[in-house]
Amino acid sequence: MTTVNGGISFWYSQTGVPAPREPLPGDTTADVCIVGGGYTGLWTAYYLKKAVPFLRITVLEQKFCGYGASGRNGGWLYNGIAGRDRYAKLHGHEAAVALQHAMNETVDEVVRVAAEEGIDADIVKGGVLEVAHSPAQLARLKAFHAAEVAFGEKDRLLLGAGESAERIRVAGTSGGTWTPHGARIHPVKLLQGLAKAVEALGVVIHESTTVTEIKPKHAITPYGTVRAPYVLRCTEGFTASLKGQKRSWLPMNSSMIATEPLPREVWDTIGWEGRETLGDMAHAYMYAQRTADDRIALGGRGVPYRFGSRTDNDGRTQPATVEALREILVRFFPATAGVAIEHAWSGVLGVPRDWCASVELDRATGLGWAGGYVGSGVATANLAARTLRDLVQLDSGQGHGTELTALPWVGHRVRRWEPEPFRWIGVHGMYAAYRGADRRELSGRSSETDPVARVADRISGRH
Ligand SMILES: Cc1cc2nc3c(=O)[nH]c(=O)nc-3n(C[C@H](O)[C@H](O)[C@H](O)COP(=O)(O)OP(=O)(O)OC[C@H]3O[C@@H](n4cnc5c(N)ncnc54)[C@H](O)[C@@H]3O)c2cc1C
Repeated sequence: MTTVNGGISFWYSQTGVPAPREPLPGDTTADVCIVGGGYTGLWTAYYLKKAVPFLRITVLEQKFCGYGASGRNGGWLYNGIAGRDRYAKLHGHEAAVALQHAMNETVDEVVRVAAEEGIDADIVKGGVLEVAHSPAQLARLKAFHAAEVAFGEKDRLLLGAGESAERIRVAGTSGGTWTPHGARIHPVKLLQGLAKAVEALGVVIHESTTVTEIKPKHAITPYGTVRAPYVLRCTEGFTASLKGQKRSWLPMNSSMIATEPLPREVWDTIGWEGRETLGDMAHAYMYAQRTADDRIALGGRGVPYRFGSRTDNDGRTQPATVEALREILVRFFPATAGVAIEHAWSGVLGVPRDWCASVELDRATGLGWAGGYVGSGVATANLAARTLRDLVQLDSGQGHGTELTALPWVGHRVRRWEPEPFRWIGVHGMYAAYRGADRRELSGRSSETDPVARVADRISGRH
């Protein structure tokens, strides 16, 4: 069997790519204009319209809703948020605990709304299992576990190798940590259900409409301009393509493979009855899920970044990346050695210079944005959207400050990335360092994190 490469993502081979919605027909006005039809844009439209039904909301999407990471991700709906530890340093422990609580609740909020709106997205709330493979990974796993508990996750469990294997038998596991705050989802089913729900509420979505520039009260496209008091940028990994944004969030690649459906005998050797999402503690970490039709979908970092902040070609992935992911699959689950890889794809996520997700509405200009989620945006986009709703309501005099508008990631700003070629050299150097560190840790006995990885963390601003 040959591997399908690209085609946006494996998930679309199950749902089909939807018939395109009409592009913007010409100049128009709205109360709120949202740029980008991923989870952030659509959730924002959803919550704003629910809160204020008479609002005229227009969503502009360059290709089709779900073209970006929201239609390509690993389907971990979980409570991780990029930057929490830095927010603790900047705003204090309690502020970061509040952020973490909000994230825990967000997982349940997405599950709740999906049920309320009749969206069947193959959701199973089996939690998140992360495993360690080497003494250094185990030491990091224990430190990670302790930090999560300190940030309020009292229900998180630290597992020995045997307990971890009772959930998922990953070869060579030395220990694990499990949290209940995670669910396995089908990313595109959630996205498409959400788009339908938003339209049913009366939000207007125009597809095949690229916004070339965002200015206060204006979203400019080749077909015309939408004038609106609020223009919200929800373009995540594609942000660098907007005028004036070249060096803001860096488009980082993540790549995935999906196997053919695995036979019963293979599942008997693996377990994974609880449908937990699965990750590890490598520096260039992997993530995986057991799909509703019994495949393994597994992702990790391939070519990390394209020169000049270019994005991608409908998800096409380099053969070397596909092979590297297949090697991880077989190392984790030796019984998959002979199984076919049906699909491979990639997508971009947005990485700010300090690796901190943020959400903001500039009250002077009416421009808002949310993102920089790094690799944890499936749930975070929902929290960002409810926060943008509250910020718009607060600014327009229809609401008050809320618990969400007080969270420490609101209004956070960060310096821009270095110009090329330093950006490219830096990111490629960082991932070369991580891959080397992962190899040395896997073959070594030390419980210390590899020093090269520590230096890469510091230089990159990641930790
Ligand atoms: C391979 C992969 C795996 C991932 N796995 C996970 C995971 O398991 N769990 C997790 O939490 N996170 C994961 N992520 C990250 C997560 O998917 C994203 O953070 C999240 O989907 C971001 O949603 P978004 O709406 O902000 O951005 P996107 O989904 O990227 O949406 C942005 C939209 O804006 C549109 N757009 C961009 N520029 C313009 C423009 N100029 N004009 C008009 N429209 C424009 C794009 O076409 C796109 O549809 C993964 C990401 C990738 C790439």
